[in-house]
Amino acid sequence: MHLQYLLPHQLKQAVEEGWPLLVPTGCIEYHGPHMAMGLDTIVVEELLERVAERVTCVVAPPFWYGPTGYAVTGPDQGTLDVSTERFGRHVKDVLGSFWEVGFRWIVVGVHHQQMDGPESLAIRQAAAEVIFEKTYAERGDAWWGKAPLPPDDHVFERIQVWPSVLPAAAEQGVVMADHAGYYETSLLMAARPELVDADRLGMGAPWYCTNSESKAREARPEAGERMWAAMVDAWVQKLSGLLRPKRPTPDDLTVKGIF
Ligand SMILES: [Zn+2]
Repeated sequence: MHLQYLLPHQLKQAVEEGWPLLVPTGCIEYHGPHMAMGLDTIVVEELLERVAERVTCVVAPPFWYGPTGYAVTGPDQGTLDVSTERFGRHVKDVLGSFWEVGFRWIVVGVHHQQMDGPESLAIRQAAAEVIFEKTYAERGDAWWGKAPLPPDDHVFERIQVWPSVLPAAAEQGVVMADHAGYYETSLLMAARPELVDADRLGMGAPWYCTNSESKAREARPEAGERMWAAMVDAWVQKLSGLLRPKRPTPDDLTVKGIF
């Protein structure tokens, strides 16, 4: 189910039944001469689409315009950049709206710059602020301090930010720290072959496509499908754990050890 295509009664059902809302994020950034500029967002969108085939959930439209810091190229190659701070404020507004609609589980997927990059940090800060501010508005002073939270109260886990490659997928050999190299190229070849033109990896391709670790030329769709399988399995497994009526483990927490 896609948020933008739901009719009001379908949305109501999704909220009332506690379906997770999955939110892709990314950016427009040069990914070598051989791949589409939107790769980072497309990877998360594809991942969440595949997860949605196995878990009852709603997939939201992506946050497309994340900060890049022009780290890979400048705008001469089409990369877009925005203020990290203003991006984070926008994300906060939207996450806050999801909360107000009543979604009980909001999971934001990140691929671009991994979990400690400016984009992820801005989203994580936005998520933490929404959790604290909305909960305070709903429950008032000392909402945490006056009594222990009931075991089924998962307020700290209501908005979570997950990497495209969860640890369980990394253990299967999927590498997230790759820019337009073997991994990203294989993923796109498998999911959206029309967005890859490997013939353009000729002379002049940047180092991150061609050096001994990147090896974009060795990318294959079959390898990409194996990566997708590991990434999707990891997400499905973690989501299923979340939806079980139990206290999530510390690994599930977006905000942990804060008190
Ligand atoms: Zn990338």
